[in-house]
Amino acid sequence: MRQSLVVGNWKMNGSIQRNQSLLDSLKENIKSVQHAQVGICAPFVYLRQMSELLKGTQIGWGAQNISHKDSGAFTGEVAASMLLDFDCKYVIIGHSECRNLYGESDQLVAEKYAKAQSVGLIPILCVGELLEQREAGETENVVGQQLDAIINLQGIASLSQSVIAYEPVWAIGTGKTATPQQAQDVHAFIRQRIAKQNAGVAENVQILYGGSVNGSNAAQLFSMPDIDGGLIGGASLKANEFLTICQAAQ
Ligand code: PEP
Repeated sequence: MRQSLVVGNWKMNGSIQRNQSLLDSLKENIKSVQHAQVGICAPFVYLRQMSELLKGTQIGWGAQNISHKDSGAFTGEVAASMLLDFDCKYVIIGHSECRNLYGESDQLVAEKYAKAQSVGLIPILCVGELLEQREAGETENVVGQQLDAIINLQGIASLSQSVIAYEPVWAIGTGKTATPQQAQDVHAFIRQRIAKQNAGVAENVQILYGGSVNGSNAAQLFSMPDIDGGLIGGASLKANEFLTICQAAQ
């Protein structure tokens, strides 16, 4: 039986002071969430603060990207192994903002995924289509290719040590959520595609939905059979809203 997981993606937001008050409120109330896992992915510079404030709580933490290299002359980059110094559990890989704004290809995303797993981090692999791709009937092709890049490099079994997040690009930060049925259809497609190669991995892998999830639409989305929780952007910056979403995942 898969446990639900809700992960906040703070993106490029926060300050030492704001993080402290957000995490204080979350810590105070998170005990009401006993039957779902919770995580937060913060900007690199706040990972020390995350480890100090979240150690010993039920909230796991992580980063939003890593380099595909181990170390060396890569100015501005952060290696997977460095995240271990801050006790990170998760790292988001292949977020659509990284794919589309910084040109991360399926191959590069797969290499980053491999680096994350090589040091024991859990990659949260984001996949999803652009609006024009959906309108052209290309959703399954696009998502299938993004997934195949990972499977080709790391093998199907690697997915059992990872989380997948289906995030239709047209729904991210736009307030336009996919309907529960639209999301379910793609989640089922992902699970079936994995099941063709390994039924056990398909049954166990957590597939999150991301794209304008909020306290009002979370419960309906999470009630779908192949949606195992959410990757939450904007709404993860508000303690009450994020807690409502976490509660909806139970
Ligand atoms: C995201 O950044 O992964 C995301 C889903 O953002 P939002 O919830 O703001 O749409």
